[in-house]
Amino acid sequence: MTVMEKGPPQHPAYVDGKTKLMLIDGKWVPALSGKTFETRNPATGELLADVAEGDRADIDRAVAAARKAFAGPWSKWKPAERQMLLLRLADLVERHIEELAALDTYDMGAPISRTRNNRQRAVGMLRYYAGHAVTLHGETIDNSLAGEIFSYTLKEPVGVVGAIIPWNGPLTATIWKIGPALATGCTVVLKPAEEAPLTSLRLGELCLEAGVPPGVVNVVPGYGETAGAALASHPDVDKVAFTGSHLTGQKIVQASAGNLKRVSLELGGKSPDIVFADADLDAAVPGASMAVFANSGQICSAGTRLFVEKKVYEEFTGRVAAFAKELRVGNGVDPQTQVGPLVSAEQLDRVTDYLSIGRQEGARRLSGGERLTDGDYQKGYFVPPTVFADVRDDMRIAQEEIFGPVISAIPFTDIEEVIQRGNATPFGLGSGVWTRDVGKAHRLARAIRAGSVWVNCYQAMDPAVPFGGYKMSGYGRESGKQHLEEYLNVKAVWIRTA
Ligand code: NAD
Repeated sequence: MTVMEKGPPQHPAYVDGKTKLMLIDGKWVPALSGKTFETRNPATGELLADVAEGDRADIDRAVAAARKAFAGPWSKWKPAERQMLLLRLADLVERHIEELAALDTYDMGAPISRTRNNRQRAVGMLRYYAGHAVTLHGETIDNSLAGEIFSYTLKEPVGVVGAIIPWNGPLTATIWKIGPALATGCTVVLKPAEEAPLTSLRLGELCLEAGVPPGVVNVVPGYGETAGAALASHPDVDKVAFTGSHLTGQKIVQASAGNLKRVSLELGGKSPDIVFADADLDAAVPGASMAVFANSGQICSAGTRLFVEKKVYEEFTGRVAAFAKELRVGNGVDPQTQVGPLVSAEQLDRVTDYLSIGRQEGARRLSGGERLTDGDYQKGYFVPPTVFADVRDDMRIAQEEIFGPVISAIPFTDIEEVIQRGNATPFGLGSGVWTRDVGKAHRLARAIRAGSVWVNCYQAMDPAVPFGGYKMSGYGRESGKQHLEEYLNVKAVWIRTA
């Protein structure tokens, strides 16, 4: 059965009117302050839950639990035992995938057709890390003192990891942090985004059910400036794994300086998607459109700077705008919905500000451009897929991350020029190339300064393929075997044998 043949999801059982507590040391506890915050459905405004609001004191408790667990029996777990744990968690996530998909849809608005499709990624990631748990090892090294002193390396878990995630894909973002930690033997304190904390908390329950020992995975919801900042600056956290905006990323780096903790950063982008006149335009129209409109543009690697070769510029942008107008915008629980709401009122303000900026800067609007307010739309934060044409490189809509369903279409004439202009941004996360010329494809794959280059496709992802940024899109990689290295220290051992 295909995903689209399924009906609307059931109201998630986890949304049961009860206050959601935080997971610390294997127990569900309220915030020490007793404070809570609300999380709501961005399509309808429905209150989903009151959630315990963690702060510095709760982070202290969670980090202490994670430290105790790191030094305790967890450190004795054999790689094969951690592998089995990850496989049990993968099975549980697979069994509950419909509920987890629905939770993502209710909490942050993404269409159910999209969140259901996360099954392969979420479960696949856990199984991928499980596979790697038993392959981690150091090396023996023939050094210049061989015969007298023998040397080898050990790979050791980095320790207590503070994980801070955004709201735009809670299920996969949580697994991207917890998976490598469990595989390598680290412990985690995870702070979900305040906009969408429910899936991470439900995953916390599944971790306990899978047999994750107390303190190994802790989930502390709360705000960025309080709980997040406390985690990033905590002197007993060994590494921060952060996903979010580059502005917060800069704060994380500053906060990490106190104990010089390891930091990995998955940040935002303003990715170029380059369409040559020789491309298969029938494939490039939906490909380049969904490179931005998927998840309402709330994807870090969205191909928002759409460079189109002049010869086909008018035709191609016209076809993209026509495609955009056909997309079904609505509540994500409808299986037919292709574009859901934006996550919050704040995000709506941000995106609609950029729509005004685009108009003021003189871009030509080919589709969308205004918030939707008719009928049921007024209950949520809906912005239709928007295409701006005749965008110049110096416009703010060509330079700044909008994080909404907005394409800035820019004409170009030749390959050297588009390489230079495509790279002329502080970011370097994703990029796309649409061409039938294999030479051109390879040339661009090398020349573009970004962590991912998709040729004749966009946003393809796999647990085995590393993902991450160049320049201000961050450093470190998630997925792939490099991801596990982020959670490991390398120790050199020297033994006199003579
Ligand atoms: P954000 O930076 O505002 O928030 C991300 C997380 O950081 C949240 O949990 C938030 O509470 C926390 N936070 C905020 N201020 C903090 C502080 N001072 N100290 C510690 N933590 C703090 O980003 P957002 O609006 O939630 O997410 C959108 C951004 O995330 C976009 O820029 C997007 O490109 C980026 N993103 C990147 C990736 C990637 O893999 N590269 C993936 C998804 C999203």
